Amino acid sequence: MADVVVVGAGVMGASIALELQRSGRSVLVVDRGDAVGAGSTSASSAVVRFNYSTLAGVTAAWESAHRWADWAHHLGADQLEADSGSRPLARFVRCPMLFIQSPGFDRTGSTALLSEVGVPWEVLDEDQLAEQFPALDTGRFHPPRRPDDPRFGDDPSGQLDAIRIFDSGFIDDPQLAATNLMDAARRLGTQVHLGTEVVEVRHANGGTGRTGRRTVGIATADGREIDAPVVVNAAGPWSAGLNRLAGVFSGPDDGVAANRPMRQEVHVVPAPSGFTLDDGGVMIADLDLGYYSRPQVGGTLLVGGVEPDCDPLEWIDDPDAVSPHPTVDCFEAQVWRQARRLPDLAVPHRPTGLAGVYDVTPDWVPIYDRTSLDGFYVAIGTSGNQFKNAPLVGQILRDVIDACEEGHDHDADPVSTRCDRIGRDLDLGAFSRLRSITETTGTVLG
Ligand SMILES: Cc1cc2nc3c(=O)[nH]c(=O)nc-3n(C[C@H](O)[C@H](O)[C@H](O)COP(=O)(O)OP(=O)(O)OC[C@H]3O[C@@H](n4cnc5c(N)ncnc54)[C@H](O)[C@@H]3O)c2cc1C
Repeated sequence: MADVVVVGAGVMGASIALELQRSGRSVLVVDRGDAVGAGSTSASSAVVRFNYSTLAGVTAAWESAHRWADWAHHLGADQLEADSGSRPLARFVRCPMLFIQSPGFDRTGSTALLSEVGVPWEVLDEDQLAEQFPALDTGRFHPPRRPDDPRFGDDPSGQLDAIRIFDSGFIDDPQLAATNLMDAARRLGTQVHLGTEVVEVRHANGGTGRTGRRTVGIATADGREIDAPVVVNAAGPWSAGLNRLAGVFSGPDDGVAANRPMRQEVHVVPAPSGFTLDDGGVMIADLDLGYYSRPQVGGTLLVGGVEPDCDPLEWIDDPDAVSPHPTVDCFEAQVWRQARRLPDLAVPHRPTGLAGVYDVTPDWVPIYDRTSLDGFYVAIGTSGNQFKNAPLVGQILRDVIDACEEGHDHDADPVSTRCDRIGRDLDLGAFSRLRSITETTGTVLG
């Protein structure tokens, strides 16, 4: 028995457990895996950046970056003597982001959002870009192409400029970050049951929504029933399956923002001179060629994709069936594109890196919300871009749950959450399952 069961011990479940435990509830986290943060969190590139297409996206990322930068304080670890000698803390490694846009990209709108929230940025014109980053080919290659396209090797036409966003970076160990959050929750009393799969979301009469039912707990594969008036779905790429067990997201009272798993690869290549962490390397989001990259400790680069039109999207049915190994096709597409931008890049002979799974909504914006089943809440649809917001997501779910459990109609009148580090309120209607979705061709940039 618990006040809340959180399903999923990834970075989201851990953050939610911490904030709900802090609010005075008893929290039980269950995960079918054998370690905290071992799901899609462990595959994350963990990039912390601020260029989102919505005000809510920029606000959440900027607030969360302040919390990453002050991680011990966020965890409450700086107040606890007992902490000395325990696990190390994940680190926010600062590394500016170069945002290379494609023709037609709404730069004015995008930079206006950064300015409104107070995120420092600047334009590097083509001369400044070439002078400050001599290892970059600053030619314009757009549109992105597959390596088997006869025009893949075409010479660039024209020159690029870019936006530099200074305070970006990455978390050096995403699984450790989830573990830090869970350790903090455990210190306050959270129970964590690993190796425990949820196979049923139990409900009974007494709800106020369409079904007239509300959550009363879960049942697990090993035959246990755990009673709880509140259950949170933080099951990452498996969350659509858990929603089906709960009978939610099957009709208009849960909106149209259904989420689906999608396979993704991230490759690892040696960083050329001028692009390591120690010699001026920057992270790049390159819409002109269709990849992103970031340096990592140890002199390598991570290279991922940003869903250019030429790359097929790999929707999948079962996250468990995904091979964790990179493929030649995807490796060549992503790494060869980056090699056009960084001509000194030494492309490995074999694919190196990993495959992970995103949990993607039609507009690539997450769903942090209640559902049509009273007492059943979701932190899902993180769309490959929400690791960075995990420090705030626990608080978001706490505020939504507090309001709804007190009878507030969050659907009609969305609550907001306080971003105390940056002095702004964040309207949580932006993450509602009922939001209107006009654009369904988004990307991981969110
Ligand atoms: C390759 C890749 C790169 C990424 N790069 C970035 C990035 O650079 N920046 C960024 O901000 N975001 C990034 N993301 C996104 C980010 O990592 C994810 O949004 C985030 O880690 C999701 O965390 P989660 O806790 O929701 O899910 P997960 O970490 O997947 O945790 C879900 C947990 O639920 C458990 N579970 C599932 N079903 C059940 C069940 N029925 N019973 C019990 N337990 C269950 C699973 O075992 C799992 O441990 C990336 C993601 C991937 C895959």
